[in-house]
Order: sequence, then C-alpha cells, then structure tokens
Amino acid sequence: MLKYDVAVVGGGLAGLTAANFLAREGKKVVVLEKSNRLGGRGMTNDKNGVLMNLGAHALYLSGDAMTILTELGLSIPGGNASKSVQIYGILNNAVQIIPTDFSSIMSSSLLSWKSKFVLGKLMLKLMKLNIDSIPEVSLAEWANTEISDPMVRHIFYAICRLTTYTHASTLQLAKPVLRQVQRSLKDGVLYVDGGWGTIVEKLRQQAIASGVEVFTSKNVISIEHQENDQIIQCSNGTNFEVTECIVAAPPKEALKIIKGAEQTSLRLWNEQAIPVTASCIDLGLKKLPNPQHQFAIGLDQSLFFTNQSRAAKLSDDGTVVVSLAKYHDPLEDINVYTDKQQLESVMDMLHPGWRKEVVVQQFLPKLTVSYDFPHLKRKENPGPSIPEMKGLYIAGDWAGHEEVLADAAVASGKRAAQEILKASEMILVKEG
Ligand SMILES: Cc1cc2nc3c(=O)[nH]c(=O)nc-3n(C[C@H](O)[C@H](O)[C@H](O)COP(=O)(O)OP(=O)(O)OC[C@H]3O[C@@H](n4cnc5c(N)ncnc54)[C@H](O)[C@@H]3O)c2cc1C
Repeated sequence: MLKYDVAVVGGGLAGLTAANFLAREGKKVVVLEKSNRLGGRGMTNDKNGVLMNLGAHALYLSGDAMTILTELGLSIPGGNASKSVQIYGILNNAVQIIPTDFSSIMSSSLLSWKSKFVLGKLMLKLMKLNIDSIPEVSLAEWANTEISDPMVRHIFYAICRLTTYTHASTLQLAKPVLRQVQRSLKDGVLYVDGGWGTIVEKLRQQAIASGVEVFTSKNVISIEHQENDQIIQCSNGTNFEVTECIVAAPPKEALKIIKGAEQTSLRLWNEQAIPVTASCIDLGLKKLPNPQHQFAIGLDQSLFFTNQSRAAKLSDDGTVVVSLAKYHDPLEDINVYTDKQQLESVMDMLHPGWRKEVVVQQFLPKLTVSYDFPHLKRKENPGPSIPEMKGLYIAGDWAGHEEVLADAAVASGKRAAQEILKASEMILVKEG
C-alpha cells in the first residue's frame, strides 16, 4: 500500500492543475492517469512532426485557464489568433465576408447597410456589457430580446457557438456565454505553439519539480471512502492510501469508481450533466489552397474552419495545420458519416483542390468537448468537495461553476486543491 497525502485521479488539465497547487504548498501528491500519456483531451498528436490537437483548440487570453497558468508561473508560447483575421461566413453553401472592420464593412454584401449598423452596435454593446447584471435566462431568450435583425442574430449565434464549442442556445445560460464572447472580442485567443501538449508538458514538468509523482497507465478501478482516508485500487493491482483524493475524470467514471457515490451529490451532478460533442477533421496541408480563407463560421450550419498555423508553430517543415468542426446539438440525433461529408464539402468550398495538398489527417467523430456546461437544467454547481464523503473532491470541465471548457477544467482543479488546503489549515489551527 503506497501512502500519499493526496491522490489525483486523471492527468488532464484539471488534474495536473490541482496537483501543482497542492504540491507547491508541500503536500505529497500522486497523479494516476489511466492512459499511457498525460493530457486527456488537451493532448497533442505528433504525426510525423505535424502537431495536431484533438480538434481546434483556442486558449482565451483573459480566461480562467490562462490566468491560473500564469499564477502557476507558466508562460504559454503562441500567437493571438484573433488579430487582423478576416472572418468569413458560410450561408446557403456560399462563402461571404462578415463585416467586422472598415474595409470588410465596405466590401461585404452579406448584410444591408441598416443591418451592418445594427451588427456594429451589437459588437460595441457586447464589449461594454456588464456581465454580472445579466439575469438567469437562456442564451436564446437573451438574443430574442436584444437582437431583432435575423441575419445579425445568425452571426451572433455563430460567434457564441465558436466561443463555447456549444450548440444549445435554448439550454445555455446567457451569462457565461456572453462573458466568453466578451473575452474573445476584447483580448482574443491564443493558438499555442506545439499545440496544447505544450501546456500539458509545462504542467507536468512543474508538478514533477514540486515533488509530484506522476504515473501513467494507472487505471483506477475503485476508491473506497473511509472515515479518515481513501483506499485507491488500480487495475494492475497497485493500491494507494491517501488522506484526500481529487477525481478529475468524467462524471460517469467518478460515479462508477467511488464506492457508495450513488448516495451522494455526485449522483445529481452526473444526472444533470449534458455532454457537448463535436465531429472534427484536422488536416496537415503542404499549402493552403486559398490563403484568403483563414477562418470561417457557419451561419446556417453549426460548423467552423480555422487555420491554426496562422498563429501557432505546429510543424518544422511548413506544413499548415487546419481544423474543421461540426458542433452537435445535444437535443438532436448525430450522424457522424454525414458530419464528415459536410466538413469535407466546407473544405471544397473554401479551399478547392485541398485533397492533393494533404500530408496527414485525423477524423475525430463525436468527440466529447465538455462533459457539462452551465445550463438552465442544472440544479446546483458540482463540487469541489463531495459533501457526504469527507476527503473526496471532484474536478474537470463538467465541474465548472460559471466557467466553460478548459477554463472550467483548470478553475475546478484549482478550486479542489484550495478546498483541501483550506481544510488542512483548519485542522492545524484546531490542533495548534
Ligand atoms: C474537439 C475539442 C475542441 C476543444 N476546443 C477547446 C477550445 O478551443 N478552448 C477550450 O478552452 N477548450 C476546448 N476544448 C475542451 C478542453 O479540451 C477540455 O475542457 C479539457 O481538456 C478537459 O480537461 P479535463 O482535465 O477536465 O478532462 P480530460 O482531459 O478528459 O482528462 C481526464 C483524464 O482522466 C483520465 N481518466 C479517466 N478515468 C480514469 C480512471 N479511472 N483512472 C485514471 N485516469 C482516468 C483520462 O484518461 C483523462 O486523461 C475542446 C475539446 C475538444 C474535444
């Protein structure tokens, strides 16, 4: 039986963040990751020197993840992908310029002059909006009240899908989405050099330097909660005894491995979770057939295209890494075969002749982007502690409070670590 203060189950962004916060305060921490690599959905695949995230990944420059990584002393290399990029819209199977600056306002025929003015006013409003004053309504309700022009509303929804990777306007709470939109308009997003694997590697190195022990290929199959400690069992027979445990794995997995969790709040958090999925194609191209088309969003379809290499270094030999995604509506059926066809036809539209430029590719059908998001059906925010089981905590993108995606993963990892540190301080005060 190996003994530690804290075990973190899951070596994705949430788990690695938690481990770092705990270790720097002197806790003896072990990270147990079931896969043979760290990073979870934040990993980057190296395909003959071409680096591919699992679908397009953008780090919000003023988001929770970036703020917390900076607090940990990590600097993330990359380029601001929001700077001076012309956004194209896909409507009725044609490509149109979305008016965002003076020259595109003059050249775009997507909107009437009146609608261009309405869009400009909406963008200014979104930049200045006091997010905390937004009531607890769905995104659709907010948009119906605030935006009467149908084409401007199409553009607004496309931006919301883009910033949250979520296509569920009647379920999503308006406030977290508008916060994310505001952040993207004000400060932009970073495409990370080397892909998100760079973030994972920086977190890993810092954790190890702080004394964390990191094990891969350790599949946790059971966590037994006892009065003052937790007994963790891995499928290869290794056992750990720890005072506290953070489960930074998906909610279903957490419910399965924690014995007796059906009788705790975790059951409700799992039941209320609505996973967000998408199908993605990532391509390494010798060159981009139409260099004008760097970035496009679907206005009447829930999809987008981006050239990640415009802002991040993802290959040594100049291979251009582009990504396409089709966001799924959680209330609708999914057909991954038609998703692939649809995404390829977007490439045909934006980059005719692309097939002969392909060096490497990956198709990721129905990938879980986030295991939950802030929505109207949520009865309570998950975690950080499981109140019925002292010493057990949860983290992950499903355990966000008002955060979304990686911001939720990283913020929830920090929250769980802080809760443990706070509990230890209280014990010390009591004993002292
Ligand atoms: C296509 C796509 C695009 C995305 N784009 C963006 C974006 O642009 N911006 C953004 O902010 N976010 C984005 N995200 C979301 C972001 O990648 C995730 O929110 C984040 O990586 C989740 O981290 P996590 O630690 O919560 O979960 P995970 O990365 O899933 O980590 C959980 C880990 O737990 C391990 N595990 C599970 N069960 C066990 C067990 N029993 N024992 C041991 N280990 C276990 C898993 O193997 C995994 O490594 C995107 C996601 C996808 C899929």
